[in-house]
Amino acid sequence: MTNTKTIRQILPSIRATEGDGMVIHRAFPGSSVSEIDPFLLLDEMGPLEIQPGERKGFPDHPHRGFETVTYLLEGEMEHRDSSGNHGVLRPGDVQWMTAGSGLVHSEMPGSNMIRDGGRLHGFQLWINLPRSQKMIPPHYQELASSRIPVARNAAGDVEVKVISGEALGVRGPIQSENPIVYMHFTIQPGGEHVQPIPAGYTAIAYLIGGEGIFDAKTGTAKARKVIVFANGGDSVLLSNPAGSGETLNLLLLAGKPLEEPVARYGPFVMNTREELQQAFEDYRSGRMGTISPGD
Ligand code: MN
Repeated sequence: MTNTKTIRQILPSIRATEGDGMVIHRAFPGSSVSEIDPFLLLDEMGPLEIQPGERKGFPDHPHRGFETVTYLLEGEMEHRDSSGNHGVLRPGDVQWMTAGSGLVHSEMPGSNMIRDGGRLHGFQLWINLPRSQKMIPPHYQELASSRIPVARNAAGDVEVKVISGEALGVRGPIQSENPIVYMHFTIQPGGEHVQPIPAGYTAIAYLIGGEGIFDAKTGTAKARKVIVFANGGDSVLLSNPAGSGETLNLLLLAGKPLEEPVARYGPFVMNTREELQQAFEDYRSGRMGTISPGD
Protein backbone atom coordinates (compact mmCIF):
# COMPACT_ATOMS: atom_id res chain seq x y z
CA MET A 1 0.00 0.00 0.00
CA THR A 2 1.64 3.20 -1.09
CA ASN A 3 0.93 6.67 0.11
CA THR A 4 0.81 8.92 -2.96
CA LYS A 5 2.15 12.47 -2.76
CA THR A 6 -0.42 15.26 -2.81
CA ILE A 7 -0.20 18.26 -5.15
CA ARG A 8 1.49 21.31 -3.60
CA GLN A 9 1.18 23.67 -6.53
CA ILE A 10 0.31 23.81 -10.23
CA LEU A 11 2.35 26.31 -12.24
CA PRO A 12 1.74 27.38 -15.85
CA SER A 13 4.77 27.52 -18.14
CA ILE A 14 5.31 30.97 -19.59
CA ARG A 15 6.19 31.69 -23.22
CA ALA A 16 9.40 33.70 -23.61
CA THR A 17 12.30 34.23 -25.98
CA GLU A 18 15.80 33.22 -24.87
CA GLY A 19 19.26 33.21 -26.42
CA ASP A 20 19.12 34.15 -30.08
CA GLY A 21 15.37 34.14 -30.83
CA MET A 22 14.67 30.71 -29.32
CA VAL A 23 11.00 30.46 -28.28
CA ILE A 24 10.65 28.62 -24.99
CA HIS A 25 7.96 27.87 -22.41
CA ARG A 26 9.54 28.33 -18.99
CA ALA A 27 8.07 26.31 -16.14
CA PHE A 28 10.43 27.89 -13.59
CA PRO A 29 12.10 30.01 -12.35
CA GLY A 30 9.29 32.54 -12.48
CA SER A 31 7.71 35.29 -10.43
CA SER A 32 6.43 32.90 -7.74
CA VAL A 33 9.02 30.11 -7.77
CA SER A 34 12.81 30.59 -8.03
CA GLU A 35 13.84 26.94 -7.75
CA ILE A 36 12.32 23.60 -6.84
CA ASP A 37 15.31 22.15 -4.97
CA PRO A 38 17.36 20.43 -6.46
CA PHE A 39 15.96 21.72 -9.79
CA LEU A 40 16.87 25.23 -10.93
CA LEU A 41 15.14 25.66 -14.28
CA LEU A 42 12.87 23.81 -16.68
CA ASP A 43 12.33 25.07 -20.22
CA GLU A 44 10.31 23.51 -23.02
CA MET A 45 12.17 24.61 -26.17
CA GLY A 46 9.57 25.38 -28.83
CA PRO A 47 7.91 23.66 -30.44
CA LEU A 48 8.82 26.14 -33.13
CA GLU A 49 9.24 26.12 -36.89
CA ILE A 50 12.72 27.14 -37.97
CA GLN A 51 12.85 28.69 -41.46
CA PRO A 52 15.66 27.67 -43.82
CA GLY A 53 18.70 29.86 -43.06
CA GLU A 54 17.51 30.87 -39.55
CA ARG A 55 19.97 30.43 -36.68
CA LYS A 56 17.74 30.52 -33.58
CA GLY A 57 19.46 29.00 -30.56
CA PHE A 58 21.86 29.62 -27.71
CA PRO A 59 25.20 31.03 -28.94
CA ASP A 60 28.39 30.86 -26.80
CA HIS A 61 27.69 31.14 -23.07
CA PRO A 62 29.22 29.73 -19.86
CA HIS A 63 27.89 27.54 -17.03
CA ARG A 64 29.27 26.73 -13.57
CA GLY A 65 27.98 24.90 -10.51
CA PHE A 66 25.19 22.68 -11.87
CA GLU A 67 24.10 20.19 -14.56
CA THR A 68 22.14 20.86 -17.75
CA VAL A 69 20.06 18.07 -19.28
CA THR A 70 18.88 18.49 -22.85
CA TYR A 71 16.25 16.07 -24.18
CA LEU A 72 15.25 16.53 -27.78
CA LEU A 73 11.86 15.39 -29.11
CA GLU A 74 11.98 16.86 -32.62
CA GLY A 75 14.61 18.51 -34.81
CA GLU A 76 18.36 18.64 -34.42
CA MET A 77 20.60 20.49 -31.92
CA GLU A 78 24.32 20.89 -32.30
CA HIS A 79 26.60 21.70 -29.41
CA ARG A 80 30.24 22.78 -29.13
CA ASP A 81 32.25 23.56 -26.04
CA SER A 82 35.48 25.18 -24.98
CA SER A 83 37.25 21.81 -24.58
CA GLY A 84 36.62 20.94 -28.23
CA ASN A 85 33.65 18.66 -27.55
CA HIS A 86 31.15 18.65 -30.39
CA GLY A 87 28.00 16.65 -30.95
CA VAL A 88 24.57 16.56 -32.56
CA LEU A 89 21.37 15.65 -30.72
CA ARG A 90 18.60 13.98 -32.73
CA PRO A 91 15.00 13.15 -31.74
CA GLY A 92 14.92 11.10 -28.54
CA ASP A 93 18.56 11.79 -27.62
CA VAL A 94 19.69 13.11 -24.23
CA GLN A 95 22.76 15.12 -23.33
CA TRP A 96 23.44 15.16 -19.57
CA MET A 97 26.13 17.77 -19.01
CA THR A 98 27.75 18.21 -15.61
CA ALA A 99 29.14 21.73 -15.98
CA GLY A 100 30.93 21.55 -12.62
CA SER A 101 33.78 24.08 -12.47
CA GLY A 102 32.71 25.54 -15.77
CA LEU A 103 32.90 25.67 -19.53
CA VAL A 104 31.69 27.78 -22.42
CA HIS A 105 29.37 26.13 -24.93
CA SER A 106 26.90 26.83 -27.71
CA GLU A 107 23.62 25.05 -28.39
CA MET A 108 22.25 25.73 -31.87
CA PRO A 109 20.03 23.96 -34.41
CA GLY A 110 22.06 21.41 -36.37
CA SER A 111 23.52 22.32 -39.78
CA ASN A 112 20.79 20.32 -41.60
CA MET A 113 18.09 22.30 -39.76
CA ILE A 114 19.77 25.61 -40.46
CA ARG A 115 19.94 24.70 -44.15
CA ASP A 116 16.49 23.11 -44.57
CA GLY A 117 14.45 24.50 -41.66
CA GLY A 118 12.10 22.28 -39.66
CA ARG A 119 10.41 21.81 -36.35
CA LEU A 120 12.38 22.01 -33.11
CA HIS A 121 11.00 20.72 -29.80
CA GLY A 122 12.76 19.64 -26.64
CA PHE A 123 13.54 20.29 -23.01
CA GLN A 124 16.29 21.75 -20.93
CA LEU A 125 16.48 21.02 -17.23
CA TRP A 126 19.04 22.52 -14.82
CA ILE A 127 19.89 20.41 -11.78
CA ASN A 128 21.84 21.93 -8.91
CA LEU A 129 25.05 20.33 -7.66
CA PRO A 130 25.86 20.13 -3.95
CA ARG A 131 28.63 22.37 -2.62
CA SER A 132 31.05 19.42 -2.66
CA GLN A 133 30.59 18.91 -6.43
CA LYS A 134 30.25 22.42 -7.83
CA MET A 135 33.91 22.59 -8.85
CA ILE A 136 34.41 19.05 -10.20
CA PRO A 137 35.73 18.80 -13.79
CA PRO A 138 33.04 19.17 -16.48
CA HIS A 139 31.84 15.93 -18.07
CA TYR A 140 29.08 14.57 -20.29
CA GLN A 141 26.79 11.58 -20.49
CA GLU A 142 25.47 11.35 -24.04
CA LEU A 143 22.54 9.01 -24.61
CA ALA A 144 21.41 8.17 -28.11
CA SER A 145 17.69 7.44 -28.26
CA SER A 146 18.44 3.76 -28.98
CA ARG A 147 20.22 3.43 -25.59
CA ILE A 148 17.27 4.72 -23.56
CA PRO A 149 15.22 1.77 -22.31
CA VAL A 150 11.43 1.75 -22.68
CA ALA A 151 9.18 -0.02 -20.16
CA ARG A 152 5.49 -0.90 -20.58
CA ASN A 153 2.91 -2.01 -18.03
CA ALA A 154 1.01 -5.30 -18.34
CA ALA A 155 -2.15 -3.59 -19.63
CA GLY A 156 -0.13 -1.91 -22.40
CA ASP A 157 -1.58 1.55 -21.71
CA VAL A 158 1.46 3.01 -19.90
CA GLU A 159 4.83 3.43 -21.61
CA VAL A 160 7.89 5.10 -20.10
CA LYS A 161 11.32 6.02 -21.45
CA VAL A 162 13.58 5.62 -18.44
CA ILE A 163 16.43 8.11 -18.71
CA SER A 164 17.33 8.08 -15.02
CA GLY A 165 15.86 6.14 -12.10
CA GLU A 166 13.79 2.94 -12.23
CA ALA A 167 10.23 2.33 -13.45
CA LEU A 168 8.34 -0.94 -14.03
CA GLY A 169 11.52 -2.90 -13.30
CA VAL A 170 13.63 -1.02 -15.87
CA ARG A 171 16.65 1.12 -14.88
CA GLY A 172 17.81 4.18 -16.78
CA PRO A 173 21.48 4.47 -17.84
CA ILE A 174 22.38 7.86 -16.31
CA GLN A 175 24.85 7.72 -13.42
CA SER A 176 24.58 10.63 -11.01
CA GLU A 177 26.07 11.20 -7.56
CA ASN A 178 22.73 12.55 -6.39
CA PRO A 179 19.98 10.20 -7.54
CA ILE A 180 17.70 11.92 -10.03
CA VAL A 181 14.54 10.56 -11.64
CA TYR A 182 14.04 11.63 -15.27
CA MET A 183 11.29 9.74 -17.10
CA HIS A 184 9.10 10.40 -20.14
CA PHE A 185 5.66 8.81 -19.76
CA THR A 186 2.96 8.31 -22.37
CA ILE A 187 -0.31 7.09 -20.88
CA GLN A 188 -3.39 6.15 -22.92
CA PRO A 189 -6.95 7.10 -21.85
CA GLY A 190 -7.89 4.93 -18.85
CA GLY A 191 -4.23 4.19 -18.09
CA GLU A 192 -2.78 4.73 -14.64
CA HIS A 193 0.65 4.35 -13.04
CA VAL A 194 1.88 4.74 -9.47
CA GLN A 195 5.60 5.56 -9.54
CA PRO A 196 7.59 5.00 -6.34
CA ILE A 197 9.49 8.16 -5.34
CA PRO A 198 11.18 8.21 -1.91
CA ALA A 199 9.55 10.30 0.80
CA GLY A 200 11.35 13.62 1.18
CA TYR A 201 12.19 13.82 -2.51
CA THR A 202 11.02 16.71 -4.65
CA ALA A 203 8.86 15.49 -7.53
CA ILE A 204 7.42 17.44 -10.45
CA ALA A 205 5.52 16.45 -13.57
CA TYR A 206 5.63 18.59 -16.72
CA LEU A 207 2.60 18.05 -18.94
CA ILE A 208 3.67 18.05 -22.59
CA GLY A 209 0.27 17.05 -23.94
CA GLY A 210 -3.13 15.76 -22.89
CA GLU A 211 -4.62 15.98 -19.43
CA GLY A 212 -4.12 14.03 -16.25
CA ILE A 213 -5.13 13.43 -12.66
CA PHE A 214 -2.25 13.52 -10.16
CA ASP A 215 -3.95 13.13 -6.82
CA ALA A 216 -7.30 11.93 -5.54
CA LYS A 217 -8.60 15.40 -4.64
CA THR A 218 -7.59 17.71 -7.46
CA GLY A 219 -9.33 17.75 -10.83
CA THR A 220 -7.54 17.32 -14.13
CA ALA A 221 -4.55 19.40 -15.14
CA LYS A 222 -3.75 20.14 -18.78
CA ALA A 223 -0.68 20.58 -20.97
CA ARG A 224 1.99 23.24 -20.33
CA LYS A 225 1.46 22.94 -16.60
CA VAL A 226 3.96 21.87 -13.97
CA ILE A 227 2.58 19.77 -11.14
CA VAL A 228 4.70 20.27 -8.03
CA PHE A 229 4.13 17.43 -5.57
CA ALA A 230 4.40 17.76 -1.80
CA ASN A 231 7.50 16.03 -0.40
CA GLY A 232 5.57 13.62 1.87
CA GLY A 233 4.32 10.31 0.50
CA ASP A 234 6.36 7.63 -1.23
CA SER A 235 4.90 7.57 -4.75
CA VAL A 236 3.19 9.72 -7.36
CA LEU A 237 -0.05 8.98 -9.18
CA LEU A 238 -0.08 9.51 -12.96
CA SER A 239 -3.52 8.91 -14.42
CA ASN A 240 -5.19 9.62 -17.76
CA PRO A 241 -9.00 9.80 -17.36
CA ALA A 242 -10.82 7.16 -19.42
CA GLY A 243 -12.86 9.77 -21.28
CA SER A 244 -10.02 12.18 -22.09
CA GLY A 245 -9.73 11.05 -25.69
CA GLU A 246 -6.00 11.85 -25.92
CA THR A 247 -2.63 10.52 -24.84
CA LEU A 248 -1.20 11.96 -21.63
CA ASN A 249 2.40 12.89 -22.39
CA LEU A 250 4.61 14.06 -19.52
CA LEU A 251 8.04 14.26 -17.96
CA LEU A 252 8.39 13.04 -14.38
CA LEU A 253 11.38 14.53 -12.54
CA ALA A 254 12.42 13.90 -8.96
CA GLY A 255 15.44 14.31 -6.73
CA LYS A 256 16.62 14.74 -3.18
CA PRO A 257 16.62 18.39 -2.09
CA LEU A 258 20.13 19.72 -1.37
CA GLU A 259 18.95 22.20 1.29
CA GLU A 260 21.98 24.45 0.71
CA PRO A 261 22.06 28.21 0.11
CA VAL A 262 21.61 29.13 -3.58
CA ALA A 263 23.44 32.13 -5.05
CA ARG A 264 22.52 32.35 -8.73
CA TYR A 265 22.97 34.83 -11.50
CA GLY A 266 22.39 33.96 -15.14
CA PRO A 267 24.49 30.92 -16.06
CA PHE A 268 26.22 30.52 -12.68
CA VAL A 269 24.73 28.82 -9.60
CA MET A 270 26.88 28.76 -6.47
CA ASN A 271 26.36 28.86 -2.69
CA THR A 272 27.66 32.38 -1.92
CA ARG A 273 27.92 35.83 -3.57
CA GLU A 274 31.72 35.60 -3.39
CA GLU A 275 31.68 32.36 -5.38
CA LEU A 276 29.42 34.04 -7.97
CA GLN A 277 31.86 36.95 -8.30
CA GLN A 278 34.69 34.45 -8.72
CA ALA A 279 32.70 32.70 -11.47
CA PHE A 280 32.26 36.01 -13.35
CA GLU A 281 35.97 36.81 -12.99
CA ASP A 282 36.98 33.35 -14.17
CA TYR A 283 34.65 33.66 -17.18
CA ARG A 284 35.76 37.21 -18.09
CA SER A 285 39.43 36.32 -17.85
CA GLY A 286 38.94 33.30 -20.12
CA ARG A 287 39.59 30.66 -17.44
CA MET A 288 36.42 28.81 -18.52
CA GLY A 289 37.84 28.74 -22.05
CA THR A 290 36.49 29.96 -25.36
CA ILE A 291 35.11 28.27 -28.44
CA SER A 292 37.43 28.72 -31.38
CA PRO A 293 35.79 28.85 -34.81
CA GLY A 294 36.12 25.51 -36.56
CA ASP A 295 36.40 23.49 -33.33
MN1 MN B 1 23.80 26.17 -22.01
